[in-house]
Amino acid sequence: MGLEEKIPSGILLTTVERIVNWSRTGSLWPATFGLACCAIEMMSTGASHHDLARFGMEVFRASPRQADLMIVAGRVSQKMAPVLRQIYDQMAEPKWVISMGVCASAGGMFNNYAIVQGVDQVVPVDMYVGGCPPRPEQLMQGILKLHDKIRSEHLRPVAGV
Ligand code: SF4
Repeated sequence: MGLEEKIPSGILLTTVERIVNWSRTGSLWPATFGLACCAIEMMSTGASHHDLARFGMEVFRASPRQADLMIVAGRVSQKMAPVLRQIYDQMAEPKWVISMGVCASAGGMFNNYAIVQGVDQVVPVDMYVGGCPPRPEQLMQGILKLHDKIRSEHLRPVAGV
């Protein structure tokens, strides 16, 4: 008798890893955090026309303790970098970072001493979204790519447990 015949219909087999990662992709909560013009497009992505609620992430959290996704939307000044890092450190584990736009990813047109030339110098970046500014559709594509990445992750041990 084959395995399919032994299992009653309506039963779904999977691994804990898969089900945990799947549930994480359906409940990413971004921190309320914008730095420059890219943040306008990020806000537009969360509004009704583009509807981030489809992905279970319409709730931008005002507290980093309740957020597990940082969308770095805009250029990062040297002055802001330690603040950004502090917000990242306060976010719940496991957490992910999207670098939105060319300024956050590589300094963009601001090739000068006042702007960090890539936010990956401050926090680990999981997904880059190109453009100046990226349209909401591009940010959503980055979010869906991040979902793919999360689905393929091995469960990370949570710090402090
Ligand atoms: S990438 Fe363009 S839109 Fe985004 S912060 Fe830089 S200048 Fe502004």
